[in-house]
Amino acid sequence: MNVLVIEDDSRIASFIEKGLRAEGYVTELAGSVREALVYVVTRVQDDFDLVLLDLGLPDGSGEEVLVRLRETGSGLPVIVLTARGEVVDKVRGLELGANDYITKPFAFDELLARMRVALRSATQPAAQELVVGDLRLDLLSKVAWRAGRRIDLAPREWALLELFMRYPTHVLSRTRILSRVWEFGYEPGSNVVDVYVGYLRRKLNRPGLAPLIQTVRGAGYRLVAP
Ligand code: CA
Repeated sequence: MNVLVIEDDSRIASFIEKGLRAEGYVTELAGSVREALVYVVTRVQDDFDLVLLDLGLPDGSGEEVLVRLRETGSGLPVIVLTARGEVVDKVRGLELGANDYITKPFAFDELLARMRVALRSATQPAAQELVVGDLRLDLLSKVAWRAGRRIDLAPREWALLELFMRYPTHVLSRTRILSRVWEFGYEPGSNVVDVYVGYLRRKLNRPGLAPLIQTVRGAGYRLVAP
């Protein structure tokens, strides 16, 4: 799980990031409205699962970030972190699209608990299956099919294929795949992604059917729809 932390107070940011990393989350930090908006317009929707948003930022209010995020159509869960004394109208914030609020100072376990709730409600599968070309994933029974034939996948292989199928034709870098499928614990130089792409190819490829996963030199891998 990848979390974007938008917080200008370095002590609080470090407390949150250290705690989340110890729990296996991958975090990135933005310290201003300007920095946060760069994430919002470029990659927050594809690369993150949740946003922690401080309201009092040096160059404006976190509300601005929230509004822009929702304007992009993103339903990414957002938990607002507010300092005691910051004038916050919770109703207004929730109307702007926050999923929850936490008042600083907070206990780390409370933050984790609220994050789990927000993530759970956001990850209810919207669709029951993913289909790309002749490939079909049944998200409820966790069974994959290619051209009508069932394919048995190990959990990591499943997670990798699901990621490819959520972003068909996108080039996915090894770093991005590592952070989405393995979450943490592997060094960026690890070849585990190449190894698992190899496993997947062996299971997906069949004589007479087009290969599905392309290597894009120097960039990563891409699922092509035949
Ligand atoms: Ca602040």
